[in-house]
Amino acid sequence: MKYFIKTFGCQQNHSDSERIESTLKSRGMTKARSIKTADYVVINTCMIRESAENRVYGLVNNLGKLKTKNLKLKVIVTGCMVGLAFRDKTGKFLKKIREAMPSADEFLPIEEIGFDNAPVRQTKENAWVPISNGCNNFCTFCVVPFTRGREISRPYQDIIKECSDLKKKGYKNITLLGQNVNSYGADLILGEKNVQVMRDLSKTYFKKQTGVESGGIPTARRLGGLVAGRAPAGGNSKQDPLAKIKPVYVKHLGRYRIPTLFPHLLEEVAKLGFEKVDFISSNPWDFSDELIDVIAKNKNITRLIHLPVQAGDDRVLKRMNRWYTANDYTNLVLKLRSKIPGIKFSTDIIVGFCGETDEEFANTVKLCKAVGFEKAYLAMYSKRPMTAATRNLKDDVPHTTKEKRWLILEKLINHPYLRKK
Ligand code: SF4
Repeated sequence: MKYFIKTFGCQQNHSDSERIESTLKSRGMTKARSIKTADYVVINTCMIRESAENRVYGLVNNLGKLKTKNLKLKVIVTGCMVGLAFRDKTGKFLKKIREAMPSADEFLPIEEIGFDNAPVRQTKENAWVPISNGCNNFCTFCVVPFTRGREISRPYQDIIKECSDLKKKGYKNITLLGQNVNSYGADLILGEKNVQVMRDLSKTYFKKQTGVESGGIPTARRLGGLVAGRAPAGGNSKQDPLAKIKPVYVKHLGRYRIPTLFPHLLEEVAKLGFEKVDFISSNPWDFSDELIDVIAKNKNITRLIHLPVQAGDDRVLKRMNRWYTANDYTNLVLKLRSKIPGIKFSTDIIVGFCGETDEEFANTVKLCKAVGFEKAYLAMYSKRPMTAATRNLKDDVPHTTKEKRWLILEKLINHPYLRKK
């Protein structure tokens, strides 16, 4: 059997495809030169925009035509569309994709792939290393918490082992991947069902969960030993390096939000000696001072930070359920610039979000000018199934206005030379 994998979407999907490829190889399959010569086609789907979803329907239906020539051909659909279908308890989305893709032989949840096989890396220099999957933030426009589910962090030591092995094999650049990398470890500390909302952990969490007053911040080991994926506390702390790890308590808007292990993880990976250590994506509300210090201290950590802002107007940010104001964002940028000389930023922005007025969009332009992004991944808002925006808000900005706003930011950020003409 010859396989071909077609991947849509973000680096996380591409990283998942590397592990899918490894599973196919372990079953004795070989890689086809093109989709047309394959007997086993895996489509790793993306749902972040309506356009990405429509491209999948188009491709699978074209494969249906190939099936008339190659009777052995199997089409497997996986990734975000299948994730959503299996999480939608009404069954409506599964019905929809079954009807839209009658040529698909199987809908495979990505969770079934797991981490047992080493991924088939696409290059010998750069490697993606997933550190968490899913998201608990529920931005109102975003389908990710429904496609990938709640945030689950990989055990700390598994990540360090994977990175150490990559270093020994001669890889130069590492990118740590997750939907919100800087909340890495919150579930290892608080439990998988934690709700990462703004709450004052100092008042309630410490005593209830650990019997320790907030003054004595517990170590990861004392919080149940889950970080290492090993037995709970009680071992000899001299022999156990993780016993010394103290989670970083992220303070945002004057309150403790979540504990995270990301600053420790990033520093430990940086110290392995790669030429460059990147991480994507991080969110502004989990960008702790400790994380800034780690980046400042370790020169091999990226100086181009991807920091999604999504909008530069406080009312739009509130409708998006993003936990910061435009001022909070620009203050964070200023803080990073003051501590890390030469640091640059890229971002994600959605234009034409529900109810976005000319004045609100003008505030986004203002923020972009103030920050001076190196690059922006711009999207015109489109409704996504199950999200709060689809359920509760009106997609009322005309498409022509969305296009106009998209072009303004595209010229401003991604093609500054066009502005000068
Ligand atoms: S946009 Fe919001 S909900 Fe979507 S993955 Fe990022 S933080 Fe999570």
